[in-house]
Formats: sequence, C-alpha cells, structure tokens
Amino acid sequence: MVKKKLAIHGAPPLRKNPFPGSRPGASVIGKEERDAVLEVLENRSLFRYYGEQLLGKVKAFEEAFAEKIGAKYALGVTSGTAALVVALKALGISIGDHVLVPAASFIATPAAVLIAGGVPGFVDLDNSLTMDPEDLERKIIPETKAVIPVALRGNPCKMDRIMKTASKYNLLVLEDVAQSCGSMFRGKVSGTFGNAGAFSLQQNKMITTGDGGVVTTDDPNVYERAVRYHDGGMFREREGFLNVMNDDQVFVGQNYRMNEMSGAVALEQLKKLDSIISRTKEIITTLRNGIAGIPGITLCDINDLDGYAGSTLVFMLPDEKIADKFIEALKAEGIPAGKMYGGKPLYRQPQFAKKKTIERDNFPFSTALGEKADYSPGICPRAEDILRRNVSIEVNPLFTREDTEDILMGIEKVSDYYLR
Ligand SMILES: *Cc1c(COP(=O)(O)O)cnc(C)c1O
Repeated sequence: MVKKKLAIHGAPPLRKNPFPGSRPGASVIGKEERDAVLEVLENRSLFRYYGEQLLGKVKAFEEAFAEKIGAKYALGVTSGTAALVVALKALGISIGDHVLVPAASFIATPAAVLIAGGVPGFVDLDNSLTMDPEDLERKIIPETKAVIPVALRGNPCKMDRIMKTASKYNLLVLEDVAQSCGSMFRGKVSGTFGNAGAFSLQQNKMITTGDGGVVTTDDPNVYERAVRYHDGGMFREREGFLNVMNDDQVFVGQNYRMNEMSGAVALEQLKKLDSIISRTKEIITTLRNGIAGIPGITLCDINDLDGYAGSTLVFMLPDEKIADKFIEALKAEGIPAGKMYGGKPLYRQPQFAKKKTIERDNFPFSTALGEKADYSPGICPRAEDILRRNVSIEVNPLFTREDTEDILMGIEKVSDYYLR
C-alpha cells in the first residue's frame, strides 16, 4: 500500500481552517448569559447575600443545580478547587488523614487534600483512566479516611464497586465531578453517590462561568459546615439547620463565596447542559465508532456510555514513541491533539515527587504520614503505562459533521503511516 505523504513531512495539511468554538460551555455562551449579567449590573447587586436590589442569582442557581443533579443541597463557590477544599473540611478531613485519589487528575484533586491538612495517596487506573476499584482496596492504610474518585473527561467512575469498598472500610467519599458535570453511572448522577460532590465551572468544563464551583451533598450537617466554612465562618441562613449560636460549634472560615454575576451565568449555562452533553456525546460516539477498527488504536473504556458527559476523544497507541509522533503528525494536519497530563501520573509531577507545599517545612508532608507517603515511580504501573501512550482530542457542540469527518480522516491518514 502506498502511504499518503503527511503534512509533517511537507504535504499540505488535511485541515486548513481552524475548528469552530472552544470548550463546551464557553462555545455556547450567547444572549441568555449576556442578558443575565446585564441584569445583575443594572441592579448594582453583585453580592449574593445583600444589596440594593438583591436578585438572588446564586441562590437560584444552587436550587436549580441541586434539582438537576439530584442532590438535597448545592453550594456555589469560587472554583472547583474551592469546592474540593470546602467539601473536605466540611466532611471533617484534617491533619493526620490519608485521602486516596486516582493517579490521573488535575493537580487540584490531591492539592485540595494537602490544603485541608491531609496527605494524598494514589490509586492506579484501569483502561477507563478512572480509579481502579481493585487497586483502591490495596491502597487503603489505617490512616485512610476518605477517597476522591474523579470522573475523568466525562467518564463516570465505577461507583458501585467504589462505594462497596468505601463502606467496607468506613471511608468518606467525595466525588470530583469537575470534568464531567451531568455524567451518570447506571442512571445515577455523578456527585450523588458519596458523602459530597465537587464540581468546577472553570472555562474548560462542560458548563462555565470562567471560574466557579459547586459543592453538593445530601447531608444537612455537611452542608451547614460547608456554608459556614465558605463564608468566613458565618452562617446567614440559620433557619432549618443546626443551631450554631452555641459557642462550642463556631470555627473560622475562608471566603469562597460565588458572586451574583457568576451565579447569573451559571444559571443560564445550566439550562444548556443537556444539549451540550447530547451534542458532544454524539460527536465522541461517531469518532469512537469511526476509529474502533484501526489496528494499533485502543479506545479508552467508557464505564457507562449512556451516562457519558464529556468532550474529549481519548485513545491509546502501542507505545510512547508512536504516541508522540502521532500527536505531532495530527497537529501538523491541523487536528489539535495532545497528551493528557503531559503523559505523567500526578505523583510524578514535581510538587508531589519532591513533596513541596508553600509551608516552611512543607507541611503536611512534614507530618509522620507525609514522610511515610511513597510517590516513587512504579506505585501505579498501569497509570504510568497508559498515560505515556495516550492521545486526546477535544471537541465541542459547535462541531459540524464536516469537522468530525476531518478529525476521522486525520486519524486515519496518520494511522496509515504509523500503525500499518
Ligand atoms: C478543573 C478541575 C479541578 C479544579 O477546578 P478549578 O475550577 O480549576 O479550580 C478539580 N478537579 C478536576 C478533576 C478538574 O478537572
């Protein structure tokens, strides 16, 4: 067979014009978001708890979000990182606690554990690039208090098995749903399985306010602690909750409050979530079906295709060298491809490999638990192997049939060269 000359070798690129849009939520920002923000500005009412003409945008968003996800409570915060930190503190995670996280995620997942005073441990992945339930059980130590499964790139975690192990070992479960808002495992929405859920509304996510986040929970005690912790230790909406007038129950808090402009945008974006998910799922399914038969390509497993809520095509190639060449060749063809997390598990990022925090003594790494933590190469061998040879391509709801076709043709062209 005569191989087609690639753009990386000087042929004209397959795709000449840039792809439309950007990230999913950001791509569909329109009149609705603009009008909602203007309403807040025109009323000069940007703070969620009081003002001249309080519109209650954050409150309305929280109620709509809780209803959409199927959680009793939702609390808007300033970022996904803030959501993780607030949830961990509300759950009672503190110094001396070990918290298990998957080997692949955004750095905020294990960082939040350290900010909360705990020490993260890493769990290997399976072919879905989410936490391997079997390795979770192996990684539990006497100090383990909680586990944070991460629904990676729209792929829900195997929550049935994770919840079983968590209840067997009495672990708290905080679901990190930052990348997968609206995803479901066997009909149940991610973020409603565990004790709490953490979502992000950062620009890259399924819905966005630029920056923002949400904590969800069914537990009134966790909610009440989250509300107070995110609001300077205050509690403005006491009715129906624990009586915190008792001096013994007070604590100092942070400020992670969401503002009304973010709340206004979040509310409009939430209304678009279903259509964003159905469109990106359709595109990703077309791409997966289109490349499934190419020898040398292994698709990332999806734990529940019905519940998938992402916008990233992820596949693995035979080895790292081929993956690197493949990505460069795709980019030269005009297809934006990349390697997730630089091809490295979290514990090989320097902050963890060198155990560095901003504290003088690198607390909490300076605690007995921190000193004991092992982040050396080989602790999650499958994650290391899969991450090294992954290829990821981002899509969004604005992609046309032709855009999807171009990605397929690009992958086929580059595969013909490198994989046959
Ligand atoms: C984006 C992300 C976060 C952090 O969200 P920010 O809003 O950027 O702070 C946390 N966890 C995961 C898995 C993420 O992808």
